[in-house]
Amino acid sequence: MSERKQFRAIKGTRDILPPDSGLWNWFEKTARDTFESYNFREIRLPIFEETSLFARSVGGETDIVSKEMYTFEDRAFGLEKPKRIGDVGDFITKVREAANSGQIPNDPSNRAEIETVEQLWRRFVSNDFELGSEEAGGLSPADQIHLMSRSAGDVRLGADISLRPEATASTMRAYIEHGMHALPGNVKLYYMGPMFRRERPQKGRYRQFYQIGAEVLGQSDAPAIDAEVIEMLMVFFQRVGLTRTTLYINSIGDKNCRPAYVELLRTELQKVKEQLGADSQRRIDTNPLRVLDSKIPNEQEIIAKLPRIADHLCDACKENYAGLKRELALRGIAYEENWRLVRGLDYYTRTTFEVIAEGLGSQNAVCGGGRYDGLVELLGGQPTKGIGFAIGSDRSILSIQESGNVPALPGLDVFVAWMGMDTYPTAVKIARTLREAGFDVELPGEEMKFKKLLNLADRLGARYALIIGSDEVASGTFTLKRLADADQKKLNESDLLETLTNERRGTRA
Ligand code: ATP
Ligand code: MG
Repeated sequence: MSERKQFRAIKGTRDILPPDSGLWNWFEKTARDTFESYNFREIRLPIFEETSLFARSVGGETDIVSKEMYTFEDRAFGLEKPKRIGDVGDFITKVREAANSGQIPNDPSNRAEIETVEQLWRRFVSNDFELGSEEAGGLSPADQIHLMSRSAGDVRLGADISLRPEATASTMRAYIEHGMHALPGNVKLYYMGPMFRRERPQKGRYRQFYQIGAEVLGQSDAPAIDAEVIEMLMVFFQRVGLTRTTLYINSIGDKNCRPAYVELLRTELQKVKEQLGADSQRRIDTNPLRVLDSKIPNEQEIIAKLPRIADHLCDACKENYAGLKRELALRGIAYEENWRLVRGLDYYTRTTFEVIAEGLGSQNAVCGGGRYDGLVELLGGQPTKGIGFAIGSDRSILSIQESGNVPALPGLDVFVAWMGMDTYPTAVKIARTLREAGFDVELPGEEMKFKKLLNLADRLGARYALIIGSDEVASGTFTLKRLADADQKKLNESDLLETLTNERRGTRA
């Protein structure tokens, strides 16, 4: 026998199995309920988008875009690379049409690739295969075919697309595409689902992970909007029992005051460059704000002495930040100011915030958020103000599990223990009735011995076994056995429903 390959989930991805999946569903449902109570509505977005959407919004210089995206070339419908020399002519016609109609990239580089194939093809069909002839460019027919096939291989037959590393960019794209600026009031959206980043997998850091996010888009940047978003976030965390958290806030200024601060920071960083590690040294040029984010022990003392953004905010940003703090106080939300809190993405302005949770080691950020007033415009929409956050579900749920604060989620209510084929029709019928009444019911599909039935009911964690034997069928009753204490009652159908319903009220209130 040949050895059979054991397939495993790809490193950085994982399966979420029951009963954890129940916890996940509850976590997500609580988010829906909470967000909807603040009048947010769900937006469901595609999992892949054009790569350039992320490059433009998240920023080409960020780690996310420059190193971590899963990017691939799509294939327009009906197009494929030529397999035989006889296919090349047809291939050229098709890709020309596809480029003209926008089905495949029509940028200069793709046009040049198509042009090259076409030139090689024309040369190939017109020359007489004379080895080394002038027309053949000194190439043998075999070399020409090789070159043609290589150039055809370089033609991009579809858009450059990426699995989403985050969902704010897609939300903005959708907002613009559907003209949502015309909707009344602020547009308040939430989303949830998987994100993809090619990072080094470790506890709390995966290549496929899940986020729940919310965004408010509109014409106002009133601090009340920021504060309400933060309130909603903290209310959600409280509802799911994620209470050992710290909320950090900061303002990173806007396009009027931040550039000068960034320059000042760069100048100051240049002076201490030699004492910094390679990453921070590089960031002095690419993104000095990110140096503040450094976790390297040796750099902490140096960073502590750097100029702080709060001392360099323009009046409008200062007032906006003070307003945010007033609004948070009004709502009784505890926070800590953290002048070193800068977000990893380029699009943020003014308010930034992060929530960290205890018990997660170094991957302890469970939510990141902030204001991104220029983003919609950057993506070609109307000038729009925006604020939002993204919660990391994986880490949040890990933290809930680690705190032991896991809620008791409803499990199997009733195991139908039928005995003898003559009782089977009754069992099928009552299982349906109980399920319709909202109970979780297990009905064995095969006849089993009584002992085996009760044993299975126990191992499945059922709260009740509903025993149906010939006696019960004859008298039109059921024996309901509570497995925790073996308490047993004989009931008719309506009493059975009433008993189970009352008990449920008691345990799930
Ligand atoms: P970190 O500093 O931990 O890498 P980040 O700044 O990259 O986080 P954001 O892009 O702001 O994170 O995403 C918001 C949240 O999503 C994070 O606070 C975190 O909880 C979660 N998150 C981000 N990347 C991952 C990942 N690879 N695996 C699991 N959760 C993640
Ligand atoms: Mg990250």
